Amino acid sequence: MLKIVEIEHLTVEYPELKALDNVSFSIHEGDFLGIIGPNGAGKSTLFASMLGLNTKYKGSIKFFGVDIRKSKDYLKQIGYVPQKPVFEKNFPATVNDVVRMGLRKESDEKQIDKILQQLWIHELGKRRIGELSGGQQQRVFIAKALVNHPKILILDEPVTGIDQQSIELFYSILRELNSKQKITVIWSSHDLDAVNRLANHVACLNRTLFFHGDSDEFFENDELVKQYSEASMQQHMHHH
Ligand code: ADP
Repeated sequence: MLKIVEIEHLTVEYPELKALDNVSFSIHEGDFLGIIGPNGAGKSTLFASMLGLNTKYKGSIKFFGVDIRKSKDYLKQIGYVPQKPVFEKNFPATVNDVVRMGLRKESDEKQIDKILQQLWIHELGKRRIGELSGGQQQRVFIAKALVNHPKILILDEPVTGIDQQSIELFYSILRELNSKQKITVIWSSHDLDAVNRLANHVACLNRTLFFHGDSDEFFENDELVKQYSEASMQQHMHHH
């Protein structure tokens, strides 16, 4: 399998603290990677660096074999779903408008309908984004991320504050995008059970990389899960 992401010795220092410390791992084409870690573990910092939004890092990040400092072309192959943005009820944009913002070419307008259908939100196109439930808004943002047919989908803690039924629908959408459309999924989550069910690879982050490998190798090793949970809990207490 092709290595499509290679992260080597990634270190990110903020003035007060080291958010990431010497993190190295690779992602192969078709992987479904779950990134787990407590609040403050550096997950968003990792994504910001991978997306070229944070350029103050040491080490290297390659997509498709090319260092992201050399070319931004790789971004065309990435769909990104940020942590759930909050919209005011009257925010003046419809679902169609939001998905259209993800489009690079005007001529692809017909893609919008197609993608909304895929995500079970084709009846919502003319509704204002702020009127929708959290789960529906989340699917709109996935639609926006997918409208250019990316090879890689990156999702940052996307289920926070969303009802259980929508979460299950969201998981089945992710599974299908990965298995049927062969989209490589990179997904950060607090939900260990969900990661166990969905991901085939796991990266446990807690500023350093605690574990990276097969999901089964992690979840079938009780000692490893226990060590990780304890370390995360300490980090969590420290954080609050
Ligand atoms: P996570 O997404 O896992 O919760 P983050 O990457 O958001 O972790 O944060 C990692 C650590 O870096 C936290 O302690 C956070 O407060 C700190 N941090 C994040 N962004 C900045 C920033 N722009 N400036 C300074 N510190 C930051």
